[in-house]
Amino acid sequence: MKNILVATGNNGKIKEISSIIKSMKIKEINLLGLFDVGLSGLKPVENGNTFYQNAYKKAVFYYEKSNMPVIAEDSGLVVPSLNGEPGVISARYYFENATDEDNRRFLLKKMEGIKDRAAYFEAVVIFFDGKNLVTKTGRCYGYITEEERGNNGFGYDPIFFSPQINKTFGEAKTEEKNRISHRYIATRDLFEELKFLEII
Ligand code: IMP
Repeated sequence: MKNILVATGNNGKIKEISSIIKSMKIKEINLLGLFDVGLSGLKPVENGNTFYQNAYKKAVFYYEKSNMPVIAEDSGLVVPSLNGEPGVISARYYFENATDEDNRRFLLKKMEGIKDRAAYFEAVVIFFDGKNLVTKTGRCYGYITEEERGNNGFGYDPIFFSPQINKTFGEAKTEEKNRISHRYIATRDLFEELKFLEII
């Protein structure tokens, strides 16, 4: 059984990754969260300019602290007509301690009068074990709605319309979103690659 540390304090993300590897019939993996290894109070500064830089920082930081293989992730929403905003500052778009609702309102306000409402979520997922560094990116394309629709999910979900499922992520069931999400695509591709490279 191989232990892998998932560099997150969010149990939902660990559950999501568990269900992805289960569906891929990967059995010999035990996923641990930061809490399980006593690292939940420690955080690197996320000052990268890209999702990759922030995910890389987290992967190396937690590997050095735990000496265990690590999976780290960084993600956010990108709106090309706003020059890529909110991007790496998705979680603190309105201000440092803004709530998800604050950030959604701020984005809707910024987009008033903007016709091109195309947007995508991006997730960069990195595996690092001190020797191998494997990176995968997942994207999920859609549109920013004019108003909130649905209460499911988190972050920008209620204002992100996905043509793949013909509803917003806020209106989608967790399983529906998880089948097409940026995080799903990146994580699935990462485990495919880890299997191919015989790292797991
Ligand atoms: P983190 O990588 O989990 O810290 O996510 C960064 C921020 O990006 C979140 O706080 C959300 O604002 C946004 N975000 C990332 N993934 C999603 C998603 O699946 N739905 C909605 N918002 C997301």
